[in-house]
Amino acid sequence: SVPLSFFGGIGGASRLGILVKGSNYLEALGSTETVVFDKTGTLTDGTFAVTELACAPGVTEAELVATAAAAEAFSTHPIAQSVRAYGDAMANAERPAANVAPLAERVRDVREVSGQGVEAVVDSRGVLVGNGKLMAAHGVPFQATHAAGTVLYVAADGAFLGTIVIADTIKPTAVRAIADLHAAGVKKTVMLTGDRTDVAASVAARLGIDEVHAELLPQDKVAEVEKLLAATERDTRGKGKLAFVGDGINDAPVLTRADIGIAMGAMGSDAAIEAADIVLMNDNPDDIAKAIDVARRTMRIVW
Ligand code: ADP
Ligand code: MG
Repeated sequence: SVPLSFFGGIGGASRLGILVKGSNYLEALGSTETVVFDKTGTLTDGTFAVTELACAPGVTEAELVATAAAAEAFSTHPIAQSVRAYGDAMANAERPAANVAPLAERVRDVREVSGQGVEAVVDSRGVLVGNGKLMAAHGVPFQATHAAGTVLYVAADGAFLGTIVIADTIKPTAVRAIADLHAAGVKKTVMLTGDRTDVAASVAARLGIDEVHAELLPQDKVAEVEKLLAATERDTRGKGKLAFVGDGINDAPVLTRADIGIAMGAMGSDAAIEAADIVLMNDNPDDIAKAIDVARRTMRIVW
């Protein structure tokens, strides 16, 4: 039977906006040794601002952005939302009464390639929007850019149209979150991301995260978590637990694989909330240290 004070612990956590799906997860949380974070939407806001546009010869900025925004029309990825918002603002400023067919008629055969970008047919042209991996996979010759931000390459019918650079911002609470976890005795903090190595390294350095792995596809994230699980268990004879924290945009498999899967509840996807053991309703990474504290106080009452 479940000791009564576990309910007290789960109730106490829920009053802080931390939903714990079972007493076993509360207990596991108390012995967390490794906390692994997804980057986009978890440690960063996931609301990107466009900071730079670079067009291939003969391509206008309006064409570059409108093409990318159309291809991203049906994606729920935070990058897609940002490109659409920028495209809308630009279209309103440039040609307020533009007479174009609805996107549902112009855009077909959309395919999201997780960790790479989107492929879609826009106005009968094969459009690609994504990172260098996506361009390379389609053999599109592109001009690699090393700007401070996430770089999106855009191509149509195999021709390179240009680059859109977008920059995400670190959540104000993320710096504190990492410091509080280390103060609570968490031995290792790790960031896993599909984004470029230089962007990832700069975010990790600013946050004081111990270890970072970048340019990962969703299946690479699972493999990294498996390596970390093996290392964590060896250190502590099976006692130390590994928590993974994500926003759920294509990280449901990792949430399931970790000892404790923690999802962002407000911005996270339904799939993530479903796959997670613990849901942070306020999307605040600093709530993990608070949850560990609640768990440990509950354990002291139980034992
Ligand atoms: P993270 O691991 O930081 O959460 P993702 O795995 O979601 O990031 O995405 C990794 C990379 O794949 C992004 O940095 C971007 O280059 C590319 N990408 C993913 N989805 C899209 C999209 N809808 N449009 C353009 N690029 C995308
Ligand atoms: Mg993500």
